[in-house]
Amino acid sequence: MVRSVDPRRAEEFGPELSEISTAEVGDVVARSKVAGDLIGQLGPVVVADGLRRAADALDAESATLAELADDEVALGVPRLLGEIARTTGQLRLFAGLVARGEHLGVTISDLPAGAPGGSLRKLNIPLGVVVVFAASNFPFAFSVAGGDTASALAAGNPVIVKAHYGHPQTSQRVAELVTEALVAAGLPGDSLQVVHGGERVGLELVRHPDVAAVGFTGSTAGGRALTDVAASRESPIPVYAEQGSVNPMVIAPSAITACAPGEARQLAESVLSGHGQFCTKPGVVFVPDDAAEEFVALLRGEMAQAVDMHLLTTKIHEQFRKAVAALGRHPDVEVWAGETSGAGLSVAGVVAVADVDTYLAVPDLRAEIFGPATVVIRVRDSADLVRALDAVEGNLTATVHGDADDRWLALAIERLVRRVGRIVYGGVPTGVAVDRAMHHGGPYPASSWSLYTSVGDDAIKRFMRPIVYQDFPDTLLPEALRA
Ligand code: NAP
Repeated sequence: MVRSVDPRRAEEFGPELSEISTAEVGDVVARSKVAGDLIGQLGPVVVADGLRRAADALDAESATLAELADDEVALGVPRLLGEIARTTGQLRLFAGLVARGEHLGVTISDLPAGAPGGSLRKLNIPLGVVVVFAASNFPFAFSVAGGDTASALAAGNPVIVKAHYGHPQTSQRVAELVTEALVAAGLPGDSLQVVHGGERVGLELVRHPDVAAVGFTGSTAGGRALTDVAASRESPIPVYAEQGSVNPMVIAPSAITACAPGEARQLAESVLSGHGQFCTKPGVVFVPDDAAEEFVALLRGEMAQAVDMHLLTTKIHEQFRKAVAALGRHPDVEVWAGETSGAGLSVAGVVAVADVDTYLAVPDLRAEIFGPATVVIRVRDSADLVRALDAVEGNLTATVHGDADDRWLALAIERLVRRVGRIVYGGVPTGVAVDRAMHHGGPYPASSWSLYTSVGDDAIKRFMRPIVYQDFPDTLLPEALRA
């Protein structure tokens, strides 16, 4: 059984929801497979209708849903209402894509007579049963009806979501609303199934031979465990895992002297948004040594204004406290923390400061700290900057601030482009636009496949594969390929 935990009081509340056992996984997958065959017969227009109806149903109940989720994740109703709007926007975006047939990627070539190939007709088809592991930090946009589910369904696949234990009641209600909407559009009731269960259930789902792909958002360790299991199957399958990221930011000398208070405020807001639990939070900031003291004082002043930020789950709360304590044990790392009442799963903002030698020597400084903490690294000169950036691993984003003719800027861009999926100039990395030009992924460990994005139109490409029909008569071709 799983029960909600209120992060503001660290107490369980609400009904006990049933978890499935590993023995039940086979039945769940079998139902999904049957649903997948039916979805294929119904076609994209019905799928698009189902996605639109699901969006309408979630919008119609957004006020109640946001309050329910707030009790479970304590992110605040306004933020959660915004997230529901993002979620329904994603559902409508994929509905539009599918209704226009853009996801099919139809490509037609009639090669010259005598050339190998002849008449080639290519399009994308769905992969099959997709398992989605919902994220803790986005109870809507990366959960039951989030981007992974929306893109996988839009591609024509049936979806099984393993709900996150951090918001089980929200997951349940969203599942009910979306299923009703899909059925009203004529889709099978098992097009989307939501299950509660622990690690063993998750692993069993990934191992099941009829599961064709996996979407995941969470820790690097979790993503890696699933990827390894998927790769060791008799028939390996892709796991699209969006994992941890520290999102380095470089503030070059020309930026820090020009507007340090503005820089510090902007950074603090980004670090604190979502109580520091965004995968795009700037977790390490490289600043010129001679301006560091003043900048850190400004940053602490801004961070001190936020008190009692409740973290999503007991596990995340424990991990945050352990990570901050570990930094505090290093003699060359200066750790400042704001104030907190300690109520429930609350923590205060944290700023840790060190120089480049310490950054290179202490792995704890380079690891993601999920929560309202950031690390400021004092950089003496451009050689120091290059040494530091060469130790940065794969990330979802990087951010650079500075004038175009600032040498630090050119060096930072050159180094960081190799390590990230998105580079931001002058702003902050939090706030990921759902757009066809977005790429939300990056070299390992930020994601398991740097080629793919979990946000924006291209997310659908993860759940389809191309097939070519060669020299087929028109009558035998799928409708989308006929003349
Ligand atoms: P998590 O621990 O990775 O869990 C996410 C999902 O994966 C859960 O359903 C979990 O199942 C499953 N899972 C994790 N490890 C597994 C394993 N070894 N075998 C099978 N299933 C496994 O993520 P979380 O609970 O959301 O937060 C923990 C940490 O993840 C955070 O501190 C943060 O570092 C990171 N995180 C990153 C992002 C991001 O956007 N990239 C988002 C959220 C969290 P169980 O619940 O059964 O364990």
